[in-house]
Amino acid sequence: MKTILAATGNAHKVEEITAILKPLAIKVISFKDIDMELPEVVEDKDTFVGNATKKAVEIAEATGMVCLADDSGLIVDALNGEPGVYSARYAGEHASDLDNMNKLLKNLIGIENRTARFACCLAVATPTEVIGTAEGFVPGKIIDEPRGSHGFGYDPCFVPDGFDKTFAELGSEVKDSISHRGNALREAVKAGLFDI
Ligand code: IMP
Repeated sequence: MKTILAATGNAHKVEEITAILKPLAIKVISFKDIDMELPEVVEDKDTFVGNATKKAVEIAEATGMVCLADDSGLIVDALNGEPGVYSARYAGEHASDLDNMNKLLKNLIGIENRTARFACCLAVATPTEVIGTAEGFVPGKIIDEPRGSHGFGYDPCFVPDGFDKTFAELGSEVKDSISHRGNALREAVKAGLFDI
């Protein structure tokens, strides 16, 4: 079985990536499985692909392993694409998921256009080269009041198109089958990014 290091400290992302890649016989390990001092990767690019590639390359160089990095976020049309690449720190550098979601909902008060999409860019790198990148999206809308307890981040306020429940109400199986992360992983598989 192939082993790949998920280059992220976000346990929710690791859980979703692991579940989605499991049927493909790709074993995903995370930072807590390796006993190593890791560099702190500064996410200073202004695109998902820039940050994902930077994370994959720097962690692959530091660990000597094949790495998969995920940079993702929520793009809200009425806010000119915000929070976008700044989704994790929308309400400030050390903001919690709840702070970020509350800021988003506050900024949308009174706004009729609620359309949005989640975007995910994945990058796969070895210690010597970038194997490639893949993107995935899921369209939907932002509701007024958060609902549900599954998932993370903005899941309680995002209703994907074709459903009337939020990602946080739908749960992981449904979310993984339609999500930006699921779609990006399926693209990555199609593009042969794991055939190494
Ligand atoms: P980053 O990729 O580490 O820069 O952070 C991505 C941020 O986007 C997360 O902290 C969440 O706020 C948000 N995000 C990305 N994917 C999801 C998701 O699947 N559900 C909810 N929020 C997400």
